Amino acid sequence: MRTAIFPGSFNPFTLGHADIVERALRLFDRLVIGIGYNPAKDDAARSARSRAAHIAALYRHDPRVSVRCYDGLTVDFARAEHADCIVRGVREVADFEYERRMADVNSEISPVETVLLAANPRLAFLSSSVVRELEYHGYDVSRFLPLPDSRDNV
Ligand code: ADP
Repeated sequence: MRTAIFPGSFNPFTLGHADIVERALRLFDRLVIGIGYNPAKDDAARSARSRAAHIAALYRHDPRVSVRCYDGLTVDFARAEHADCIVRGVREVADFEYERRMADVNSEISPVETVLLAANPRLAFLSSSVVRELEYHGYDVSRFLPLPDSRDNV
């Protein structure tokens, strides 16, 4: 049984994140989506929990996917979930430089491996911050967000 974690802020969870989840599930038997938050920030835990509930609802019919909130080090979260890999997505060179540095740090301090998946080119423009910005200006962002499972409507 191979378990990976997919850590992030997911504020909000976009089609780009959903694409990484789908592809990671071809590589791993179980994927734990981890919403990292900084407990020093006001309301961080509550807002992370509400994002977790939303993402969990999207995957409620898939027993391979679970969703948790965590604070602290991502490698400690991986260990707590019995995961030996961290999955992250890479859209552009700036992502790569950051992700490689984090992967290097994490492999320095733990045996946890990092797997970087190249973004789907059709979704590489998409980021949570772009979605938040568009939404702030009144744009309907629903086409960038995953739809609830159609089984939930029957
Ligand atoms: P963080 O704040 O930890 O970067 P995000 O929620 O922004 O969290 O992103 C979580 C992960 O998803 C990161 O590895 C990021 O590169 C990846 N990601 C975000 N958007 C996309 C996308 N459109 N395609 C592929 N990967 C993405």
